[in-house]
Amino acid sequence: MTALPDRYCPTDGTRVPTDAPAWCCPVCGGPLDLDFTPTPAPLKSLAGRVGSLWRYAESLPLATPSVSLGEGRTPLVELRDGVSAKLDYLMPTLSFKDRGAVLLAELALRLGPRRVIADSSGNAGTAVAAYCARAGLPCTVYVPSGTSPKKLEQITAHGARVEVVPGDREATADAARRAADEPGTFYASHVYNPYFLHGTKTYVHEIWEDLGGRLPEVLVVPVGNGTLLLGAALAVEELHAAGLLDRRPALYAVQSAAVAPLAEAWQQDAEDLLDGSGTPAPTLAEGIAIPRPPRARQILRAVRTSGGAFLTVTEDQIRHAQRDLASRGLFVESTGVACWAAIRDHEAFKDGAGGRTAVVPLCGAGLKTGLATSP
Ligand SMILES: [Zn+2]
Repeated sequence: MTALPDRYCPTDGTRVPTDAPAWCCPVCGGPLDLDFTPTPAPLKSLAGRVGSLWRYAESLPLATPSVSLGEGRTPLVELRDGVSAKLDYLMPTLSFKDRGAVLLAELALRLGPRRVIADSSGNAGTAVAAYCARAGLPCTVYVPSGTSPKKLEQITAHGARVEVVPGDREATADAARRAADEPGTFYASHVYNPYFLHGTKTYVHEIWEDLGGRLPEVLVVPVGNGTLLLGAALAVEELHAAGLLDRRPALYAVQSAAVAPLAEAWQQDAEDLLDGSGTPAPTLAEGIAIPRPPRARQILRAVRTSGGAFLTVTEDQIRHAQRDLASRGLFVESTGVACWAAIRDHEAFKDGAGGRTAVVPLCGAGLKTGLATSP
């Protein structure tokens, strides 16, 4: 087995071996990155490989997977001229989180903890529960009260224990972090553990392969904790650095107007979250309703250096986008429609000539939450 790459803190440079128990930077408490610079395989060499995200083996920090459920290789479907949707809800647990969860479960299997814990508004926890079941690892998932009953059912069906934490998403994260400090625990955090981002980055590798070694002018991504956006940014840099991508896309980040700490910081041209941003309101986009994302600085920087922007969507736009997609045959959960909601009436993405080419992810299946009425 090859050695696992180290983790390090992007803020102060502290190095943390991947097999050390620390789940965050021991100096500043921030999330960690991975000291890993892969050389992606050229397009031509991908033909005939396995039909899952493991076809991009050279780009992944773990090779020879044993817990795969066939995740990845989701289709691109045109929504209108120049704008396509990537159907990432067609995953083993019906959300894009499987891309990162499979890496975390694979890593946990090698580290051999007594138990795995995760915290989530639903989809990440579901994905970790499923992949732990596949790996034969005992798993506990912390969820906020008010999490969709269907997601809870899915988590328990995989044999994971559910800990419902009263209060908001932040209270759930705090409870999980306390549990994560207990010896023998692997914290399968989609926010703090950088292996997750090296899984979500395959979203971009797949688009790049499907478009014949190119990416659209714009990648539109929903952002709460920013796991898909930061994964996308990683893939773009890796492909570009390897000379496999001529033009880097602009990253457009979408937040719900009800919970938009990053979009508010962006408006002020700030490098980090603003102090005392407004009280978050309820939103249909529960999966991206994150008031204090720990990777805020990285997210803001990634959007800025790509030449992208932040967009926000209202509850009405979310409702209409979900119905619009359903009327086209695509039943997507209310968080997962946010990107289409953001650009379907947007001037810069107008039909036909002049509009920019874009891909939006449809991240979670509609069956997880049903059709939205009110938040
Ligand atoms: Zn640090």
